Amino acid sequence: MIPYGKQDINQFDIDAVVEVLKSDFLTQGPKVAEFEDAVARAVDAQFAIAVNSATSALHIACLALGVKKGDLVWTSPITFVASANCALYCDAEIDFVDVEPTTGNLCAQAFKNKLEHAKLLGRLPKVVIPVHLAGHSCDMQRISELAKQYQVKIIEDASHAIGGHFQGNKIGSCHFSDITVFSFHPVKVITTAEGGMLTTQDSELAATLNLLRSHGITRELSQLTRPNEGDWYYEQHILGFNYRMSDLQAALGLSQIKRLESFVERRNQFAKYYEKVLKNLNIGFIKPLENCRSAYHLFIIRLPEDKDRKSIFNLMRQAGIGVHVHYFPVYLQPFYIKKGYFSGYCPGAENYYANCLTIPIFTQMKEKEQDFILKKLHDIIFDIN
Ligand SMILES: *Cc1c(COP(=O)(O)O)cnc(C)c1O
Repeated sequence: MIPYGKQDINQFDIDAVVEVLKSDFLTQGPKVAEFEDAVARAVDAQFAIAVNSATSALHIACLALGVKKGDLVWTSPITFVASANCALYCDAEIDFVDVEPTTGNLCAQAFKNKLEHAKLLGRLPKVVIPVHLAGHSCDMQRISELAKQYQVKIIEDASHAIGGHFQGNKIGSCHFSDITVFSFHPVKVITTAEGGMLTTQDSELAATLNLLRSHGITRELSQLTRPNEGDWYYEQHILGFNYRMSDLQAALGLSQIKRLESFVERRNQFAKYYEKVLKNLNIGFIKPLENCRSAYHLFIIRLPEDKDRKSIFNLMRQAGIGVHVHYFPVYLQPFYIKKGYFSGYCPGAENYYANCLTIPIFTQMKEKEQDFILKKLHDIIFDIN
């Protein structure tokens, strides 16, 4: 089966991990800080905090921005469930802003309308979490202007988007947000097996995130209430977690990020070819906004509305092509239905979901495989045997 996405591991990656295995520190050694520096440099951020997953990153990002019981967080319904669950970890409530059917990304106009309505009700969100679906940036210009106007904080869920930019600003530079979150799960653009990263330009947020990812504990002399206790001494200042990344993971990340540019370039080449052929075949796809470089974590097409997605999906799988669907609207999950959400809540999202289909894109995909995928897709959609 040609997978829809796959990690790219070479001998340098393997050597980097083996080197850590033979070293003194499997965790809490020097590799984590090195990886943080490398990510900060790669995305033009002042601060980067490594954690064990993007899910953990989203949780402590919410906490660092003060999300608590009684607060409201908004996100996109077209995302992985973690983008919404993070608000519930903080005992806050989650709500969903509809997407643009053309991109599947959180819609700035829907955000504006929902903000106006929420203001009338006196129920504005504390945080909004736009998700850069497939690596295509949301319209961060408009979203951040609105967020400023209504004093809403922004966490960018950039799990798909490392290596991309929006209007010349790198995703992760937090030019339009308070915190950006990345995932390094193997299907994502670069991997640490499991792992995530937060970036910010705010030193206070960075310090709080640092505490939260490791039990709320600090050893910084300047922060200690008993600075003369001794070198063994540390203090717990807040309630944190063990969300640390290990040095094994960080070493893999450090090795991977050296190839970030070439990974994203390769993905863009595949995307360009897909787009050229699909246009000729009259098959739609989601595309990045102008002045925006996507990391193309995913390649998502839109099937003609009169075609049955399920049978196309099954036939593609039978042909050995690992197609997928990103995503089922989060609020229609049984867990969220129990909270009172219902079909029709976000028509744009349901419309998008009805005919989206993810086709394979990964750095080591062969050109022959891509041609095979396109041919099968064409033949199956237009019922040619
Ligand atoms: C993968 C993903 C996450 C979760 O990432 P983990 O590192 O697996 O916790 C969150 N949000 C989005 C949009 C994702 O794709």
